Amino acid sequence: MQRTFEALISECEHLAFDLQFSHAKAWKKGPSIVGAGDRFLAGYLPIYIPREIIHAMGGLPVGIMGTGDRMQIIKGDAYYQSYICHLPRGVVELALSGALADFDAFIFPSICDVVRNLSGMFQIFQGDDPAGAFIKYLDLPQNFAPGVGGTYYRQEIQSVIDGIQKRRSSSPIQEAVWVERLNESIRLYNENRTRIERIATLRQEFPWRLSAVEWYHVLRAGLAMPVEEHNNILYELEAVLLEERGRPLDNIRVVISGAFCEQPPIGLIKTIEMAGCYIVDDDFMLGSRWIEGDVAEGTSDPLGAVVDAYLQHSTFSASLYEAAPASGSKVERLTALVQRRKADGVIFAAPSFCDPALLDRPELQLGLERAGIRTIGFQYSENTGQFKVIKEEVGAFSDSIKLWDSEPDTRMWLPTVLEESNVIA
Ligand code: SF4
Repeated sequence: MQRTFEALISECEHLAFDLQFSHAKAWKKGPSIVGAGDRFLAGYLPIYIPREIIHAMGGLPVGIMGTGDRMQIIKGDAYYQSYICHLPRGVVELALSGALADFDAFIFPSICDVVRNLSGMFQIFQGDDPAGAFIKYLDLPQNFAPGVGGTYYRQEIQSVIDGIQKRRSSSPIQEAVWVERLNESIRLYNENRTRIERIATLRQEFPWRLSAVEWYHVLRAGLAMPVEEHNNILYELEAVLLEERGRPLDNIRVVISGAFCEQPPIGLIKTIEMAGCYIVDDDFMLGSRWIEGDVAEGTSDPLGAVVDAYLQHSTFSASLYEAAPASGSKVERLTALVQRRKADGVIFAAPSFCDPALLDRPELQLGLERAGIRTIGFQYSENTGQFKVIKEEVGAFSDSIKLWDSEPDTRMWLPTVLEESNVIA
């Protein structure tokens, strides 16, 4: 039965912030998966890992995106200097509170030194326990030449496969079964990315139909459930969004950049919307959209297809030196995103102390301003509770674009929306 819009959003909101990962743990208790054996949970830190590999092995990749403002941090604070970002403290708190006890593997993708050190801390927590989880710092390549970065990345993925198999004391999956399973996993994740992009495109045209907060809950919930279930949610949601709902406001349209790792509190996303902005794109849940387009399906070497997709179709991010340079510099790609989403400006929102985001920001800001795109920037923490100053800054940014950059009916997006909308005449 088709769920209502309210039911879909409420379910996602609950799953997105269930810090006990109850849904994933319940899934793990299900029957063995034919051809792959017992189920397992593989937690991963922001931002990208090749989830298809875990899925094909019979596992559930579970995104661990921090605790936000939903958990009091007591022990976690003892592990990091006071000025370091908040995300690792929350993850340590989760681990020490037992919330991650049922996990069989933890993958820490290379994003910064803080996450690298966090992987070491997990190893220390576990000590010599032979039944402990498999822990891997996954060094994603910065070299995009197939013979160099590609070869290295393939070895890294193989070490994940071998390590998880060893942890589970299971034999390698038979080659023919593995090829079939991995191709099916690739198909499911391709479908997931396609459905996400279709809704993002709908939001671009009709942002009032699905608020940024609602969309955030839908995407974040997808990190804590099987991809098959998430695809169903996206399918149902798209059907609802094809119908008109809500009504357009005279908001400016913004892209948010820099929030790819430690996540902004929900209150902050709401504040930006209430200050007069439609968020038409962002990098909040970038790992779900890391590969742009499809991974090749139905090949005899699906692992090679996963590697090629990373080399050739990675999005841009501060965690990469320069992904797929043929696609353009980060400044060019962010500019192209702003134009594609018909945005009026960019809000650079980065976690306090976030080295990658804050190091990239000056170059990005300068490049955008040279292209005539307005920007503002601020920092946050996942447990920030006061938004008054940010609301005033964003409100002034929105007003300045509305009042001085252009007349409302000449802002680049408005005519299209007004023509296509049957809500306001
Ligand atoms: S928020 Fe930034 S500094 Fe902190 S762990 Fe994430 S990428 Fe590293």
